[in-house]
Amino acid sequence: MSILIKGCILLDESEPDGYVAGQNILIEENRISEIGAAPMSEEGIDRVIDGTNRLAIPGLINAHTHSLENFTKATKEKLPLELWLLDLFLLGDFSPREIYLAAMLGAMEMLRTGTTAVLDHLAVGGGLTPEGLDAAMSAYADSGIRAGLAPLIQDNDQVLQAAVATHPRLQPLMRDSHETMDARGYVQLLEWLFTQWHRAEDGRLLCFAGPSGFQWCSDELLEGSLEVARRHKGGWHMHLLETKLQAMVCFDLYGKSATSAMKERGLLGPEVSLAHSVWLDDADLDILAETDTRVVHNPASNLRIGSGFAPIIEMLERDIRVALGTDGSASSDNQIMFDAMKLAGLIHNVRSTDHHKWPSSRDVVRMATVNGAAVLGMEDDLGELKPGKMADITILDTETLLLTPLNDAFLQLTYAENGSSVRTVIVDGKVIVDDGVILTVDEESIREEASEAWAKWHEQLPGLRRESQPLVLEFEQYQQEMIGREFYLNRY
Ligand SMILES: [Zn+2]
Repeated sequence: MSILIKGCILLDESEPDGYVAGQNILIEENRISEIGAAPMSEEGIDRVIDGTNRLAIPGLINAHTHSLENFTKATKEKLPLELWLLDLFLLGDFSPREIYLAAMLGAMEMLRTGTTAVLDHLAVGGGLTPEGLDAAMSAYADSGIRAGLAPLIQDNDQVLQAAVATHPRLQPLMRDSHETMDARGYVQLLEWLFTQWHRAEDGRLLCFAGPSGFQWCSDELLEGSLEVARRHKGGWHMHLLETKLQAMVCFDLYGKSATSAMKERGLLGPEVSLAHSVWLDDADLDILAETDTRVVHNPASNLRIGSGFAPIIEMLERDIRVALGTDGSASSDNQIMFDAMKLAGLIHNVRSTDHHKWPSSRDVVRMATVNGAAVLGMEDDLGELKPGKMADITILDTETLLLTPLNDAFLQLTYAENGSSVRTVIVDGKVIVDDGVILTVDEESIREEASEAWAKWHEQLPGLRRESQPLVLEFEQYQQEMIGREFYLNRY
């Protein structure tokens, strides 16, 4: 298969306005073979795409989400993470078909808004099964998006244990815990997943190990899952210190930060990516820089559930590779990477009066492209439009109101665009979205089936919330007592 994008506007960091017009991009199989202004022959080309008034950019990479939450967008009003989690885990035992539908909803939303690759930190209610993992992977195989799947695993909720120690009435929450396997069981399941799916679909699908968080997992699970990921040359993806409460519990348990405790255990390195990384101090950031560990920033979620401001300015100063994620839709309500980019470009400006330190639009676009590629372990192949790179390309219409007039492409993509100008999306050398239409799946029938599947869960929510209310109030007391305490670090 060969594609020629003829006469397009190409995103280009070296140009003063961030773009160069009149460019041809030749794609052969799944790679870009040539880019330039010189005319290219159309002979023998399978598909020619007219690039007039079209801006070609590297496909965006959503480096952190949880696909099952595509059902639970707009279901939670003003809750901090710990109480938000209690609400999230009221629902359990989603069927493999429901897991498929949720992953497909997200894949469609992302593709239509210019995202070509996703890292799904898949948390399922009830428990992980091979059938559920097959279902999520099948959705990504069918949709045509590039995807990494990191099943969320957890066997030792130390936050809950700390809460129960001072609030024994929370004991019933231990019983309802979603820890359905021991460390050995999870490690065996990961081994199965990697053997089954890692680099499937000509390398378009990847596997990751996905421990939920340092304070939620045993050392055996952390070390065992990292061993599997390293042996299969895959990645290891985890939440790190999203909230003040988590940072405080870790300090109480280890007498040091979770980041230093991870370093001591050999849990950091280039194959490791850490979502959020909000409550880290300067020494922690030095450790991430030294070990070339990657961070995934999720500004919408950090604001929506009040977790705090991640020290992105300090990370950029240390050349830490910061990628960008939407996080799950239960804490960000959509999967639109342009929203994440706009927030990443805005919210840190109020953290420093030295405007030279603010993230630039070029920093932000890098987060959503090359740094996302680094999280996927594909920095040599993805994130830039250059000959030899893989053909994951998003093409936007520059005649929309958001892109008219086209001034600086980087500023415009970061602050003006919202995904509505996306017309054509190419993943792995295949046209997946063609003039706004997804070619790989029947969007309407998936949407209808997903709405129907979700309806029965939605009906149960009010009753489950009423039943859990006393425990939620008790947990709220614990949470408020803890975060009311003095702590050496402030990220609000
Ligand atoms: Zn998350």
